[in-house]
Amino acid sequence: MSENHQVLFRKYRPQFFRDVIYQDLAVGSLQNAFKSKKIGHAYIFIGPRGVGKTTIARILAKRLNCENPDGVEPCNECTSCLEITKGNSNDVFEIDAASNSGVDNIRELRENVKFNAMGGKYRVYILDEVHMLSGAAFNALLKTLEEPPAHVVFILATTEYHKIPETILSRCQDFHFRKVPVTVLQNYIETLCTKEGLKYDSEGLFWIAKKGDGSVRDTLSFMEQAVIFTDGNLTGAKLRKMIGYHGIDTFTDFLNQLIDTSQSAQIFETLENLFQAGIDLGKFIWDFIEFLNSLLLIKDNLADRESINIPQEDLQKLKQNYRELDREILVLLAERIFSVHEKLNLMKLRSSYEMKVYLEIQFRKLILDREKPSVSGLLAKITELTKLVQGDISVLPDHSEALKKTSVNQSQVAESKNQTPKPQTTSPFETNVEGKQNKSQAETFDTKQSSNTSAPSTKPTDNSSEDMEKLLKEKFSGVEVDSNQFKNL
Ligand SMILES: [Zn+2]
Repeated sequence: MSENHQVLFRKYRPQFFRDVIYQDLAVGSLQNAFKSKKIGHAYIFIGPRGVGKTTIARILAKRLNCENPDGVEPCNECTSCLEITKGNSNDVFEIDAASNSGVDNIRELRENVKFNAMGGKYRVYILDEVHMLSGAAFNALLKTLEEPPAHVVFILATTEYHKIPETILSRCQDFHFRKVPVTVLQNYIETLCTKEGLKYDSEGLFWIAKKGDGSVRDTLSFMEQAVIFTDGNLTGAKLRKMIGYHGIDTFTDFLNQLIDTSQSAQIFETLENLFQAGIDLGKFIWDFIEFLNSLLLIKDNLADRESINIPQEDLQKLKQNYRELDREILVLLAERIFSVHEKLNLMKLRSSYEMKVYLEIQFRKLILDREKPSVSGLLAKITELTKLVQGDISVLPDHSEALKKTSVNQSQVAESKNQTPKPQTTSPFETNVEGKQNKSQAETFDTKQSSNTSAPSTKPTDNSSEDMEKLLKEKFSGVEVDSNQFKNL
């Protein structure tokens, strides 16, 4: 990476409280401490990496020792401020607890805190990754925290709150830092693009922000790499290429191939093309599972979630395109492919070719199962049959054939038609096919609601009852009523 690009993260590191993004709670509380002149002697900053803990610790140190503070902000111009910015202040000590975790390090620190501040008013100790300290080191630190010299301020920073002893926590004021949402990061890097004169589009910024995973530091580090990779043109297409993501067009095509049986053969063409292009098929399958999950979230109006991997401009398009698609199909598909992915990880295949062959077999199996009627297809069949039983033979594609197949007496059909109770409104699964021999076949398929009506029931002959049973068997021959059909490979 060139020196020029490394500058990006440092260049925009906040030097004032007001420049810190998203950590309003922590920043506001610290500013209030200065307003009320209630400065604590021990703070603990808790939160994920790269969200501004050390940055804010430095701003706090500056403000504590600033010669000309501007309200709650440091001036960033006095000697003390400039020295802290450069990292060569004699009063501010940044200690990486991960590499200074022993009791001796803390004992040395305890000796050190006795000295008065040289230039400023306070000696500030910033202990990063403080959870890495040994038990003995924590005990040694506790003694200092119990009786801190008036001129000393400790700022402990940690990503792992639960590893800090309760005795230490009880001596510190705690400040919680949060992951920065994608949209906030997107807006932030957009302002940086403008300042840096970089070209970009909304999707490009989305992928950079996503890659940062809530961390400003990681976002800017990735942005530096992206600037080099894309030659300063941060578009969605270039970013997708950089991170190896296929984009929703590839996934929607693949999904369509899976749900439309006439396109099934293309699934193998897609897998072959990806294989030939040297794409990691395992990653593709995982990304596709995430896509299916996102689609379900979109259908449930939960697309504003942080974790969703779909750029804003594609969300609406997907919602529209898959409005009619049954959730059940999506869930079953996602579950099946997830299980394929899981097995793929366990098998430790020797080559990408073996992976392709395995996937081809699994998708072939999935297509075979897909061609079996689904539960919702079965429901449609039952509804169709209910109408037929009620006398509405127009629901059948070929009336004459239907009549040929059934030996239902035409007059009975007419009779049944005239006296049919209301059409069903609830699930056909709620009906009891076997337990109502004395009632009409129409009623047999009726809902609980309509079976309570006072509509007169017809009394079909035993023959028609047998005919109906025959018809039922014919209609459902080869149909497996199995909602698990997608689940088990
Ligand atoms: Zn200053």
